[in-house]
Amino acid sequence: MIIRNAEIDGKIFDVLLADGLIAEIGKELKGDPHFDAKGGALIPGLHDHHIHLNATAAAMNSVRCGPPEVSGETELIQALNKDGEGWLRGVGYHHSVAGEIDRAWLDENGPDCPVRIQHRSGRLWILNSFAMAELDITEPANGRLLDSDISLRATAQFPDLKPLIARLLSYGITGVTEVTPSNGMAEYENYLREAKPLRVSIMGRADLSAKQSQHLKLHYHDHDLPALESLAQEIKQAHAAGRNIAAHCVTRAEVMLTLAALEMAGPIYGDRIEHAAIADDAAIDWMKKLGVIVVTQPNFITEREAAYLKDVPSDEHKNLWRLKAFADAGLKLAAGSDAPFGNPNPWAAMAAAVSRPKGFEDEAVSPEAALGLYTKPANDAGAKPRKVKIGEPADLCLLDGSWAQARKNLTDVKVQATWIGGNLVYNRVD
Ligand SMILES: [Zn+2]
Repeated sequence: MIIRNAEIDGKIFDVLLADGLIAEIGKELKGDPHFDAKGGALIPGLHDHHIHLNATAAAMNSVRCGPPEVSGETELIQALNKDGEGWLRGVGYHHSVAGEIDRAWLDENGPDCPVRIQHRSGRLWILNSFAMAELDITEPANGRLLDSDISLRATAQFPDLKPLIARLLSYGITGVTEVTPSNGMAEYENYLREAKPLRVSIMGRADLSAKQSQHLKLHYHDHDLPALESLAQEIKQAHAAGRNIAAHCVTRAEVMLTLAALEMAGPIYGDRIEHAAIADDAAIDWMKKLGVIVVTQPNFITEREAAYLKDVPSDEHKNLWRLKAFADAGLKLAAGSDAPFGNPNPWAAMAAAVSRPKGFEDEAVSPEAALGLYTKPANDAGAKPRKVKIGEPADLCLLDGSWAQARKNLTDVKVQATWIGGNLVYNRVD
């Protein structure tokens, strides 16, 4: 296939795709079939470096129970009491909405069907009495189940990924990194089968092999952190098995503990810190020294602004979801949505990286730097952004206008078409 009249780095070219690769870039190339790009910018296909596919697909069939859609008790009650059948699954709850709600609150205010609401952290489910009866459990009596996701998930089949994948392709996404800590063989096989045509890298448990899963995902509990030596040992074992580690670090304690354990185990190229939500200058220096890759979520500072202003002490605001300081320090940096906890639209996240809320502006970056966080190679989030050039995989995203237009307002960017391995997998029709 030939893509005609595409803008690449500000100039118009034709691009020949053959055998899954970009075979030629030139003027007036001959061949068929062709696709008229009408001067739209042709950029590398985007990669979401941190997403939870099954949970996001399930969330698409769920009721939002937290900011920004729902921010008070009345709104929550309205959201829960819309018509529906069977289980009601709520997601994104935060205590700023209606406090520490429990089984009794749901019984009184929710619908007469089994209800389970997930806290924004992903760590807490709140169940009503119908739901507890359905799952045949009586404890805890207040219906607040901590870290019980696994037993809850066992009651459900894998969700249908097709609507989610269609949506990701429409954003110009050609690959994702699936980062759920509980991923084992069943999930691995399910993603390989169901996530096509996306390119998928999968993180997961210690029982997956290096070939199946490059990264062992480490996810600890801030109230019960592992001992330094045992964490270092776990990292060493992963390295010995030919794998990297990717550690979920949202608090200062989690970042510092992980860095200390990595230093003790001896970091290797490819080890990742997920989120680094709070990082002071000392943490940045240490991450740089250890050579770790940081995978951040530029979207959260905008999506969660109100809660941060309320809950995070103001002297800590400068350390929240940093971008410019990471880039200036020369850290290896990429980004992902953390969907379903964040919005899966990378263009909204890029816009949030460029124009941050008042008080957080110091960490803003340019539109080009924001785009670069989503165009790193699938299996090397620490590398340089990919380019549209001969010999590269034909994983491409075509915008409906020039980059000069797009960079002025990334929120409004429309993707015209997406190719993976030279195959047209999305073509927007108005
Ligand atoms: Zn995550």
